[in-house]
Amino acid sequence: MNVLIVEDDAISRKMIEMLMKPIANEYDLAEDGKIAQYLFNKYIDTGNRYDLVLLDIMLPKMDGQTLLQKFRKKEKEKGIQGKSSCKIIMVSALGDAGNIMEAFKNQCDGYLTKPYNKRNLIEELKKLELIS
Ligand SMILES: [Mg+2]
Repeated sequence: MNVLIVEDDAISRKMIEMLMKPIANEYDLAEDGKIAQYLFNKYIDTGNRYDLVLLDIMLPKMDGQTLLQKFRKKEKEKGIQGKSSCKIIMVSALGDAGNIMEAFKNQCDGYLTKPYNKRNLIEELKKLELIS
């Protein structure tokens, strides 16, 4: 599984990295929205794809909701749809209905509210059939 972790807070990023390390084959880390967009586009443009993006919402340079829209737009341009599109889980301290609804409207696959633990993350990954 190839994973893109987008998280600006260093401690949260380290935590999510440690949780994903035993599960992911490869993962990239992005600490702001611009880096995330660059990595996502570069990956797709070189014929690869992420299986999973863990996407924070409050980010410097570009927020996670905007990124989510840009990721889906990029996939659409490349003809990547349905089963072959990447799974995107929002991971945010923002747990209000407005943000959750917007994220699902923008085609996220899951939503984890911080603070979360390993079990919550594993449950989400199982739900999306990324792990068994
Ligand atoms: Mg953040």
